[in-house]
Amino acid sequence: MTAAWQRIADGVHVWRYPVLDVNVTVVSGDEATLVVDTLSTPAQAGRLRRALTELEPRRLVLVNTHAHFDHCFGNATLAGPDTEIWAHEATRRRLADRPGQVVAEAAARHAGDDPELAGLTAVTLLPPNRTVHEHAELDLGGRRVQLRYAGRGHSDGDLAVHVPDAGVLVLGDLLEVDAPPQFDDAYPISWPATLGRLLTDATGQVVPGHGAVVDAHHAERQRRELAELADRIAAGYATGAPLEQVWSTGPFDLATRREAAARGYAELTG
Ligand SMILES: [Zn+2]
Repeated sequence: MTAAWQRIADGVHVWRYPVLDVNVTVVSGDEATLVVDTLSTPAQAGRLRRALTELEPRRLVLVNTHAHFDHCFGNATLAGPDTEIWAHEATRRRLADRPGQVVAEAAARHAGDDPELAGLTAVTLLPPNRTVHEHAELDLGGRRVQLRYAGRGHSDGDLAVHVPDAGVLVLGDLLEVDAPPQFDDAYPISWPATLGRLLTDATGQVVPGHGAVVDAHHAERQRRELAELADRIAAGYATGAPLEQVWSTGPFDLATRREAAARGYAELTG
């Protein structure tokens, strides 16, 4: 499969890849080209590398928004020996400590989800080599981008990318469009406040980890749904309510609420 570049601002393009409907965002500077997220397999990342030639890339700089396979397993295909790969420190830890085990677990869980994902078994995982604690600024030549960590949410290491001169905010899986948010590694109680802190930077287009590019109003609506769900979970926990009572109603679908409630109780238990 392949995709077409969507220009969302001057020198900012999104490649919405059909398998898992995952987004790659590219920010072009005079000296460097920032590629945010690298897809799942060597074959997919190879297609991305070929598609990048249309954008006349400079030196590539990579960002992984978080440690899930569909956002970072293409690193080795895109990176040369000197390529910077940026991520939050928790994401690097997760990927660098036991890369072979990370690949084996992702392959065991997801290689059957789509014919292309059979390629997960062929991944050599190249972990990030530059880390962000809370904030970093990258100079791409003629434009600067901000990398920002605002707390736990979809995972323990979600990194957002803000392009101030274009008004673009890239949120990784802290925001999902056309599919419910994913809670399997999430911190449902922290998530809405984390997203809220990042959305103070949202003035124009907002790129989710999966699905269509939206505006700040759409992102704010999802933040309110996440907050409603977090409030339900926290209230249930405070009164000792059984989990099934917590997930019986509320925003998103039943399977999503069930996973969120279990993760939320675990987060509150600490
Ligand atoms: Zn994810």
